[in-house]
Amino acid sequence: MKVKSYLPPKFIVERNPDRCIQCQVCVNQCSFDVHYYDAEDDEVRSHEENCVGCHRCVVFCPTNALTIRKNPLDYRENYNWRPEVIEDITKQAETGGVLLTGMGNDKGYRIYWDHLVINASQVTNPSIDPLREPMELITYLGRKPDRLELDHNSLSLKTELAPQVKIEVPVMFSAMSYGAVSLNVQKSLARAATEAGTLWNTGEGGLHHSLYEYADNTIVQVASGRFGVHSRYLNAARIIEIKIGQGAKPGIGGHLPGEKVSADVAATRTIPQGTDALSPAPQHDIYSIEDLAQLIHALKEATNYTKPVAVKIAAVHNSAAIAIGMVRAGADIIVLDGFRGATGAAPKVIRDNVGIPIELALASVDSRLRQEGIRSQASIVISGGIRSSGDVVKAIALGADAIYIGTAALVALGCTLCQQCHTGKCAWGICTTNPFLTKRINPDIGTRRLTNLLRSWSLEIKDILGGMGINAVESLRGNRLHLRGIGLTKTELEILGVKMAGN
Ligand code: SF4
Ligand code: SF4
Repeated sequence: MKVKSYLPPKFIVERNPDRCIQCQVCVNQCSFDVHYYDAEDDEVRSHEENCVGCHRCVVFCPTNALTIRKNPLDYRENYNWRPEVIEDITKQAETGGVLLTGMGNDKGYRIYWDHLVINASQVTNPSIDPLREPMELITYLGRKPDRLELDHNSLSLKTELAPQVKIEVPVMFSAMSYGAVSLNVQKSLARAATEAGTLWNTGEGGLHHSLYEYADNTIVQVASGRFGVHSRYLNAARIIEIKIGQGAKPGIGGHLPGEKVSADVAATRTIPQGTDALSPAPQHDIYSIEDLAQLIHALKEATNYTKPVAVKIAAVHNSAAIAIGMVRAGADIIVLDGFRGATGAAPKVIRDNVGIPIELALASVDSRLRQEGIRSQASIVISGGIRSSGDVVKAIALGADAIYIGTAALVALGCTLCQQCHTGKCAWGICTTNPFLTKRINPDIGTRRLTNLLRSWSLEIKDILGGMGINAVESLRGNRLHLRGIGLTKTELEILGVKMAGN
């Protein structure tokens, strides 16, 4: 039973009366019912207790009249009973339900990217100027043979290669399903991926009919709910990704509430309109590596062995052992999603306490696959909180073939990480299927913002590679000698396989 809230407002909304022209733009822009027009007093006012700090109104106010401030209200200091803990318990006492949230783990666990530094050439190995010399970012995803056999007469390749997918830049857009994000977001991702020569991922919600034209740059997911999975979907894709787990909620299924399942979402997911789309926690036909091998085989059979099959897991304690099983089961690409990976909705307690940092999972998986002598049999793609081209370069040096970005792509589209994705009210029109809000993403502008982001990162990656004296991203892959650790323990350095800076 819901009771009166004891929670104070998290944000204070300040309206400068000298600047406000009562235009009511903020009333229209705020999807959380904060601003309202008081006709009696002819004045715009605020219910600031509803504010989530998304900054939409601030950006769109034509006279810069609005300021959103964190409520400075202080609790008595207590390192155990911090304000967030008190507020969470208060919310639970008021709702009696599981606390839901959006986006990824925001806790202060160590971010290993910030404790790794990159090498640069000086004297002996000259650096390369990427503006004047060719610099290669092309990456091929898929199973590679251990050795190549040539026909020495014709100089043609005798070894039969497994299907390979070429991407121009080792950064792809991670899985975000239609329903969790709007169709205009998916259109922006699909078009930007196509323009930049990389890939986007449908997530588990099927492929909307209007996006089949981008199929050559599309990864389709086969998740536990099997939403929208059919022969045309599988055969259209460039890569098929089996989703076992996701970093934001390892071991947990998904739930798209019926009110978000519009006619269009329903048709794409091949489920009835208005019904809850429930993704079970496990894939009900996978209880062993042998079961996984059967599904991989079935998907390859269904697509005539023309597409690499990826398997995505959340980064957990025994990721390395699981990854060995996945490769032996026939996965061509291993996808590891760290605990900072975002989601449209997750129980807060799972998001913040389950899983491990992607940096540690990546380093241990890459090392174990090398020890087993099977590293070339699968590409490694990672995701989960990648924020910059610097993170990308460090991930590649730790062993990744390519990197998925999700949150960074949404930030490029306007997301301010207010973590209200689960409410379906995203004021930036991203995590919503509300027809009024979804129009806030214009696919032409979205495409431009995303291609700009990829272009910026590509230029920066080339700059970093040039500074290292490397002219191809391929030469950096898994080369941990180019990294050094700062402020890490001996065990952390050992797991990451990097030396201490100065060593
Ligand atoms: S638009 Fe966002 S920042 Fe502005 S009042 Fe509404 S919730 Fe707060
Ligand atoms: S997608 Fe929207 S609701 Fe979710 S965190 Fe970003 S701005 Fe907030």
